[in-house]
Amino acid sequence: MKTISLIVPVYNEEATIEVFLNETFVFYNNSINKSKYLLEIVFINDGSKDSTLSLLIENFSKYNNIHIVDFSRNFGKENALFAGLSYAKGDIVIPIDVDLQDPLIVISEMLTKYEEGFDVVLAKRIDRNSDSFLKRISANLFYDLYNSLVDVKLESNVGDFRLMDKQVVEEILKLKENQLFMKGLFNWVGFKTTIVEYTREERIAGSTKFNFLKLFKLALDGITSFSNFPLKLFLYFGLIIAVFSIVFGLKIIIEKIFFGISEHGYASLITAITFIGSIQLIGIGILGEYIGRIFLEVKQRPKFIVKKYYTK
Ligand code: UDP
Ligand code: MG
Repeated sequence: MKTISLIVPVYNEEATIEVFLNETFVFYNNSINKSKYLLEIVFINDGSKDSTLSLLIENFSKYNNIHIVDFSRNFGKENALFAGLSYAKGDIVIPIDVDLQDPLIVISEMLTKYEEGFDVVLAKRIDRNSDSFLKRISANLFYDLYNSLVDVKLESNVGDFRLMDKQVVEEILKLKENQLFMKGLFNWVGFKTTIVEYTREERIAGSTKFNFLKLFKLALDGITSFSNFPLKLFLYFGLIIAVFSIVFGLKIIIEKIFFGISEHGYASLITAITFIGSIQLIGIGILGEYIGRIFLEVKQRPKFIVKKYYTK
């Protein structure tokens, strides 16, 4: 007998919880071999301000296999996932969104692969038509940039929805950093991995909690967590600009000696000043980004605070 732990972070999800639970129990009863697999559901209430928690508690008293990790405030989905991993007791762990955008039926395919001996089964979105055009374009850009900078490549269009063996989860839990980019961490630990494909569904109810700014921040966190290339970039920029200015300087000296002082406009001067100025500002910005990360890491604050853990 093996236990499957579903990790479900929830933030203001009063509209989706009931449907999620109904669908999950129907799926478990009809599509999972119950003589092989038990099911537990670990909800992480990420500081919801609506009736999410009371709905969860209601269901917690109805069923034996529901656990609730109630955060003291909103810590974000990444931290909620990490908490979920540390509270899951299953032999198989699957993070899943409560809005059923990750279809439950994919779990059957994941289990087949698991039984074939894979430690990690990634769920890859082959059709993202339910996402906005901007979101798809920016996602592709992110994967291209990330994979060109980071050695341990991310599979594109794979979210947090995946199956992991307990051993994989234990390795992830050993990682000490508290600025989390879960997709990167899941990937970084390695293990025998395969992929199943699926079509991303529309949200069953409620609305997305991720606006463009939040996604941009996540992408930036992802890259700065796993690559220091942006820091080196400015060394290269600096070298190229230095060579360019030496050549340009020599040209002016030669012109002055052999042809007298030629007329130089302000336009080229201003362009050079603003160009180099902006490069410097970007450079300082990138330095700031990394120093900010170091600053937050050295404080060693916890990744999340649990107000109450509901379990039976
Ligand atoms: N979520 C969370 N904390 C947050 C934001 C989101 O726990 O600060 C949860 C949310 O309740 C949902 C999952 O993360 O279960 C995915 O969020 P959402 O559907 O809004 O993201 P999208 O699918 O639009 O990327
Ligand atoms: Mg969603």
